[in-house]
Order: sequence, then structure tokens, then C-alpha cells
Amino acid sequence: MMKREKNVIYGPEPLHPLEDKTAGEMLFRALRKHSHLPQAIVDVFGDESLSYKEFFEATCLLAQSLHNCGYKMNDVVSICAENNKRFFIPIIAAWYIGMIVAPVNESYIPDELCKVMGISKPQIVFCTKNILNKVLEVQSRTNFIKRIIILDTVENIHGCESLPNFISRYSDGNIANFKPLHYDPVEQVAAILCSSGTTGLPKGVMQTHQNICVRLIHALDPEAGTQLIPGVTVLVYVPFFHAFGFSINLGYFMVGLRVIMLRRFEQEAFLKAIQDYEVRSIVNVPAIILFLSKSPLVDKYDLSSLRELCCGAAPLAKEVAEIAVKRLNLPGIRCGFGLTESTSANIHSLGDEFKSGSLGRVTPLMAAKIADRETGKALGPNQVGELCIKGPMVSKGYVNNVKATKEAIDDDGWLHSGDFGYYDEDEHFYVVDRYKELIKYKGSQVAPAELEEILLKNPCIRDVAVVGIPDLEAGELPSAFVVIQPGKEITAKEVYDYLAERVSHTKYLRGGVRFVDSIPRNVTGKITRKELLKQLLEKSSK
Ligand code: ATP
Ligand code: MG
Repeated sequence: MMKREKNVIYGPEPLHPLEDKTAGEMLFRALRKHSHLPQAIVDVFGDESLSYKEFFEATCLLAQSLHNCGYKMNDVVSICAENNKRFFIPIIAAWYIGMIVAPVNESYIPDELCKVMGISKPQIVFCTKNILNKVLEVQSRTNFIKRIIILDTVENIHGCESLPNFISRYSDGNIANFKPLHYDPVEQVAAILCSSGTTGLPKGVMQTHQNICVRLIHALDPEAGTQLIPGVTVLVYVPFFHAFGFSINLGYFMVGLRVIMLRRFEQEAFLKAIQDYEVRSIVNVPAIILFLSKSPLVDKYDLSSLRELCCGAAPLAKEVAEIAVKRLNLPGIRCGFGLTESTSANIHSLGDEFKSGSLGRVTPLMAAKIADRETGKALGPNQVGELCIKGPMVSKGYVNNVKATKEAIDDDGWLHSGDFGYYDEDEHFYVVDRYKELIKYKGSQVAPAELEEILLKNPCIRDVAVVGIPDLEAGELPSAFVVIQPGKEITAKEVYDYLAERVSHTKYLRGGVRFVDSIPRNVTGKITRKELLKQLLEKSSK
């Protein structure tokens, strides 16, 4: 199974070998195979669905249309849309003919869209009618967008063609002889995805076909992904444009699952969808596990169909996970760790194994190590250092940024995650926090995630974020933003004391405790600590 050599840990052999195929070829085969399944994706808000047959045919017809229209290898297509049942049609169609896909965050304002689209410079953009005006504005302010196609209308709007009109104008109308192109999966870039922008501006990451194919074979491997079989119902609310939702969905289509989709997360719609569609498995961000563990709303719905909760994207407090698991009567939470730069989960709970607090073990074909930050030396069990990842899921790096790529991926192919953690004697990995988020108090370093985990154990605290407030003398002072659990009461002093009883004195909340209505998080559920701090500093300077 797991092999450890010179403190490098290697994942197990995959169930299916990595073939000389593109992601387009793999998905073409899978969608065609699942064509008898009635539902590929169901939009909860519109109660509309797409069958696997419709999905498969649309990808082929759109690929023909794009080809007939003159698009070719390496041309870039962007998708700028909220979660939508047709979101993946242009993506898979583009791969059939070797185009590069570059989905972007549709909630951005035009200024931000100009910036992120400026990274990939798409010639063609697929968007929804809600987003059309913003995309038109980006088109008028830049010079690369030559065509805009609307995913969710039948009619053309403002001179932009709808998907059905584009297909009927350019496709051959017959897919009997259609086959995706074959090209080199190792070298060819499949997608340019933006990182979350938690520590700076979002970076455009080049994922190759091989990177994505590893994710696809993980999805099919019960030891690596989830034990889901064709036709099983899953629910997705995380955004499709980000590597997390992007890779999860592609894996689901590979298996042939019935994907229940939320355009965005809404508490009651989420719970009701689990109940009404009898959802079996959900991939989550920690904030939603927190919601499931603490919200009284949860008791109003029958969630007994749930067999599996997965979680990734940010540190999950162990106690929160345990409460959710007990409340929903589950064997454990299946965790996963990955970066946009490493495509999808590289560390994951494998098979039936759950170890509370752990992220799981190295996934098939991948390798991981904990490196000493100063010497770079691979460390042994239970020693804390930087988590590094190697293998065929490690991306080609950043678009037009050799320097940043070299800083992230070293000459031996190790991707340095910027996160610190350790592994135990059983090769289970643990991540504590990011180096960049450490609070520097006098000579010591304090991990906000560690303090948040302790504070969340307090039943009066619904949610919390810890940030370092600048201080002339000490450098930074740990400070907490607290959301009180409805119906409970707690004072700032009680919060301070609660933590002080459980940590060493360098970690006390010397920067103070403030009460807020909610904790700001970015699209992938990560606390936007910089934003919080900015708000605070602005307030205090007024
Ligand atoms: P940016 O790189 O633009 O600042 P980002 O690092 O948040 O943003 P992503 O690629 O979306 O962008 O996220 C990768 C990061 O998410 C990891 O480096 C890690 O900090 C965090 N992460 C992912 N999964 C987990 C997990 N299971 N537990 C803890 N942290 C996680
Ligand atoms: Mg990052």
C-alpha cells in the first residue's frame, strides 16, 4: 500500500492506469457510456435537469460548431457563469478539439474580470444572461473577446448568440461519426484556473490534461475517491469555476452520478435539497460543516439519506467535525487536501479509513513530504514543516510567470504548498495552517486556525475568526471576531478567559475580542482575514 522512503510518502497504485488519453477522450467515453442514465445534473432553483444523453450530444455538437467556426488547438474559451447545468458543456467540447478553458469568478466586478480574463485572454466567452452585461463591458474594454455565447437562453440577446442558435448554425447536426481529437495529454494545457486569491491576487494556474486525468481516475477508484456508483445522488454548491468545484464535478460525471446543483449556497435550499432529492454524498467547505454542526435549522429536515460528507479547502476544526458526524450519524468526515496548483485532492481519506483530525493519506500516483523550511530536508513522523506535493497532478505553474512558478515548484518537481503540518506513524497527514497567516507575537508564532479550533468548542460561539492586529511593541496581537450562537450569551472577557485557560500565554487574545454578525469568507470558504483586518483598521481610524 503506502510506501515511505527517505521520508517521502508515496500513494498506492491506482485501480485504473493512467492512459495516453486526454481529459476530452476520457469524458467522451464516460458520457457516452452513461447515456442511459436519466439525470446528469439537476438545477434545484429552476428544477430543470440535463440527462447524460443530452449532455453527451451537446458536447459533441458544440465541439463541431467550434471547429467549423474556426477555433483550433490552444485557442482559449472562458466560462463566466454562476453554477449552471450547462457549465461543463463548453468545457468538455473545447477539450475535444484541444482548446484551453479558462473559467472565471462570475461575481467579480468588470474591473476584476478585466484583470483575470487578461491572464488567459479568451477569444470566446460562454456566460449566463445574468452576467452578460458585465462580459459585454469587459469586451468593450479589452481587445481579445471576439464572441460571446449565452448558455441559458433560447434567443440571442444584444447581438450575442444563444447556445442552441450557435449549435444549429455551425454544427453538422449529426454526431454519429464524431470523435474527439487525440493530442499529448502530458504537455497540452487543458485549463487555466485561478487560485482563490487568499494571500494576494488570484494566480492563473495551467493544468494539463494529464493533471486532470489523474483526478478522473481517482474518481473511479473506490480506494481513492468516494465509494459511489453510477446513478447515486450527490449535491454540489461550491462554485464550478474554481479548481475545487471544477474537479469534483468532472469526477462525478466520470462515475455517472446524479448531480444536484445549487446556483449558490442558501441554508434552507441546501437542507431541503438533501431531503427532497435524497442526497447521499456532499463535498463541503468547513464553514458548511460548522453550519451542519451548530445550526438549529438542521433539525427541521430529514437528512437521513446522507451517507458521506467530505471536506476540503481550509482547516476543519476536529471538534466541529465530530459534532456534525454524531448529529448526522455518519462514520466520519472524508477530508481532502489540494491546491489549484495540484489540480485536486492529493491527500484524502482512503477507503473506509477515518482518523479524526487527519486529512487522510497520499492519493494514488502522488507523493508527499514534510520539508524543513530552512534546510529543505524531508522530515520524519510528527515533525512540523512545509507540506510538499509531487506527481502527475502538479500543474505546469503560472501563466506568464516563470519566477513565481520557480518559487512554487522546485527543480525536483516538488510543489511547495505554503502550508505547514506533519504526518503520523500511519502516514496520515495533518495541516495546521498557512505560513502566511501566522501571527507574529513577540518572538513566537501563533496559528489562527489553532485558536479558532479551540474557540469553536465553546457552545456559545457560533463562528469565529482570529487575526493579528499590528502592534508597535509586540509586532502583532492575536484578536478574535466572534459570532454568538443564537439564544446564548457570552462576554468578551469570557471569550478571552476561555482561550486563556487552554493555551500558553503567548496566544492570549491581547488584541481584543469583537462581536460580529458573520465571518467574511471568499468563494472557496476561506476566511478573508485581510479583509477583516482592513475593516477593523478603517473603523478605528475614523
Ligand atoms: P492564493 O494562492 O491565491 O493566495 P489559495 O491558496 O487559497 O489562494 P487555492 O488554490 O484555492 O488558493 O487553495 C489552496 C490552499 O487551500 C492550500 O494551500 C491550503 O492552504 C488550503 N487547503 C486546501 N485544502 C485544505 C484542507 N483540507 N485543510 C486545510 N487547508 C486546506
Ligand atoms: Mg495558494
